Amino acid sequence: MENPEPFDVSSGQKPAWTPAGAGKAFAAKVVPGDTAVPPSPHPFTPPLPHFPTPAEYAQAILAGSRPALARAITLIESNAPRHFDQAQELLRQILPHTGNAIRVGITGVPGAGKSTLIETLGVMLCRRGRKVAVLAIDPTSSVSRGSILGDKTRMEKLTREENAFIRPSPTGGALGGVARKTREAMLLCEAAGFDVILVETVGTGQSEIAARSLVDFFLLLLVPGAGDELQGIKKGVVELADAIFINKADGENKVRAQAAQVEYNRALRYLSPATAGWRTRAYTGSALIGAGIEQLWGVIEQFQKKTTASGVWQKRRREQAAAWLRSLLDEQLRDWFYGLTAVQQALPQIEQQVISGDLPATAAARQLFQIAQEASN
Ligand code: GDP
Repeated sequence: MENPEPFDVSSGQKPAWTPAGAGKAFAAKVVPGDTAVPPSPHPFTPPLPHFPTPAEYAQAILAGSRPALARAITLIESNAPRHFDQAQELLRQILPHTGNAIRVGITGVPGAGKSTLIETLGVMLCRRGRKVAVLAIDPTSSVSRGSILGDKTRMEKLTREENAFIRPSPTGGALGGVARKTREAMLLCEAAGFDVILVETVGTGQSEIAARSLVDFFLLLLVPGAGDELQGIKKGVVELADAIFINKADGENKVRAQAAQVEYNRALRYLSPATAGWRTRAYTGSALIGAGIEQLWGVIEQFQKKTTASGVWQKRRREQAAAWLRSLLDEQLRDWFYGLTAVQQALPQIEQQVISGDLPATAAARQLFQIAQEASN
């Protein structure tokens, strides 16, 4: 059959195949086809085999495959020794493709609005074409079953963004292990092309230090409270922050938030800066209604520009890499030491001698090390 003549859709003409004199039975509504299909942000990547090699993982991650990224993070989170070697080989392969993201840590007490802020900021950045990965360090999550980021109802809008990737905190284990897994997940995300990494953490003091050790910019989220604004949060955490965001500055809270901002800015002058050459300041805004969020991102970009120019950014990354190595060594030494049967056998008795005051702790530690050395010779 010959192709029918094209017809003008807007004129309400009937298609050419409509029989002459046809009535309403042949009514048709013709709409223009999709002229511009936007390119998918998720390029098609072939599915991974059941047991991928590190090279197959690396290839899929570098090609931007989300399922491969998610599976690789599960691999690095695994505590099984046979997964460890595979995961480390994978990390070695992707390492040259990491380091291109801006890494931002976000802390604050539960209820301060961390998830709300991450969602508002994350959606804004995705709409600007950035690729945003959200990770977490939560050493308590084994107890509370993933108190942060674990709840699926949180960050609903961000979850729907195609350029966002959200991963709850690895569960179980000591803080050191959780932080290591988050750091390695961050590297995998960078290799997969994410250029903004937001790391959420809870306010336990120690977990903030762990988060600070893997991010470029550290943000402390506060809510305006009554009375002395410096009460209730640990001064040490304020000293880690590159910016303080006083959240919930909406409605009746606005005035209180502004008062808190003045107070913090005054107090911050007496603290040594968290980052050389950068002055930490307090800002107000509302994660809920999106106020002050653009300004906040502007501060982070300005920080990046300034510290990159001064070399402080690069220096911190180098120091973080060295500290990471040292913490891995600590972790492996501990595993090796406590894993030795001879140590496990001798420890309870020696410990008892220390408790009862029969043996000084220093001598006890030396004795245990000698036992460990002999056992591994
Ligand atoms: P997180 O525990 O720090 O992650 O806090 P959430 O983001 O879950 O927020 C805790 C509660 O505070 C939720 O009910 C939010 O809707 C609310 N919230 C968060 N940000 C704001 C804000 O800017 N203004 C107001 N009024 N409420 C907020």
